Amino acid sequence: MTTLQTKIIQDSTSIDPNTGSVNVPLYLSSTFHQFDFDQYGKYDYSRSQNPTREVLENAIASLENGIQGFAFASGMAAISTAFLLLSQNDHVIVSEDVYGGTYRVVSQVLDRYGIEHTFVDTTDLDQVAAAIQSNTKVIYIETPSNPTLKITDIRGISKLAKANNCFTFVDNTFMTPVFQRPLELGADLILHSATKFLSGHSDVIAGLAVAKEEGLAEQLAFSQNSFGGILGAYDSWLLLRGIKTLHVRMEASSQSAAKIATYLNSQIGIEHVYYPGISTHAGYDIHKYQSSSAGAVLSFRLENENAVRQFKENIKLPLFAVSLGGVESILSYPAKMSHAAMPKDEREKRGITDGLLRLSVGLEDPNDLIRDIEQTLLKIEKGGKLVDATI
Ligand SMILES: *Cc1c(COP(=O)(O)O)cnc(C)c1O
Repeated sequence: MTTLQTKIIQDSTSIDPNTGSVNVPLYLSSTFHQFDFDQYGKYDYSRSQNPTREVLENAIASLENGIQGFAFASGMAAISTAFLLLSQNDHVIVSEDVYGGTYRVVSQVLDRYGIEHTFVDTTDLDQVAAAIQSNTKVIYIETPSNPTLKITDIRGISKLAKANNCFTFVDNTFMTPVFQRPLELGADLILHSATKFLSGHSDVIAGLAVAKEEGLAEQLAFSQNSFGGILGAYDSWLLLRGIKTLHVRMEASSQSAAKIATYLNSQIGIEHVYYPGISTHAGYDIHKYQSSSAGAVLSFRLENENAVRQFKENIKLPLFAVSLGGVESILSYPAKMSHAAMPKDEREKRGITDGLLRLSVGLEDPNDLIRDIEQTLLKIEKGGKLVDATI
């Protein structure tokens, strides 16, 4: 049995039988000549399948330990296509602090097609059980969630779903298969914004899905081909290139994130640090059971919007941008960025307050990042006084 670290390299490398090329060629072809009138070849049209995309789809299926992978033009294309396996009058349960775009598609699009939903705090299995209806078909979770890193018990949800004839869908963007493989814990379908860690270089928008079993895989293949939100050959190739370094990037970034979380946790002026690697973080034990690392994303709360503004104006190293999972550290302001689509009262119920910042830790030297945060905290005025971050 090879480890995932080795599998990543094997699965992302596909030696071309014609030339020996160590990378899959970029098959920029929309259609494929059929040599035999009676017997059509494996490929006919690139919406249905493309040989470059196929290597990527096989790689993610193998890494997540599923039966079939699917590549889409964005994470939202993957998520939307998965939701469209549902029919009118079906019901879906969704983690309440789900990614803003997922919240939007569930509440503003599915709703119009008669697909019902309930947002639930999925960290509490009792609340999930209570929300199950006779027409519930899917329980959709994100763990750790974005941006407050709430932990949902994947195995507990999967058991509950199975007992009620529902599927479990898991958005595994934050952990990637390097740290967490929900299919091995009973989930049925994995979704990824591959734009983030899987690609890793802030240069591709892409989504991936992996089904555990044949039946769901067939339905998703049908939906992918019907809606057509596929990933192009060039982006598939770039994503494969990013995946080759996934393991080292995840390891390095998460080690740095743990260091930074520990540092922030002891600073005056930081009201709270959200990171599943801190032993007082809610769900710490569950996360430890189902994942091999706390990951590279953490959030922290400053006093208010004004403190956030000063932090942003003084910090030098991280980009200030939406997105995460790049080689460069990315600081973002959920209230006005990823969760801007969510009404303010809904946001605040989920802990996404005006003082909350999210940091996706990249590959810079963590000590440089900490020094940068330190000089920033010293410049934040708190109640008219400068905070001495070194106390
Ligand atoms: C970014 C993100 C998405 C959406 O993916 P896109 O590639 O931007 O469409 C979905 N889920 C999570 C957790 C994300 O971070």
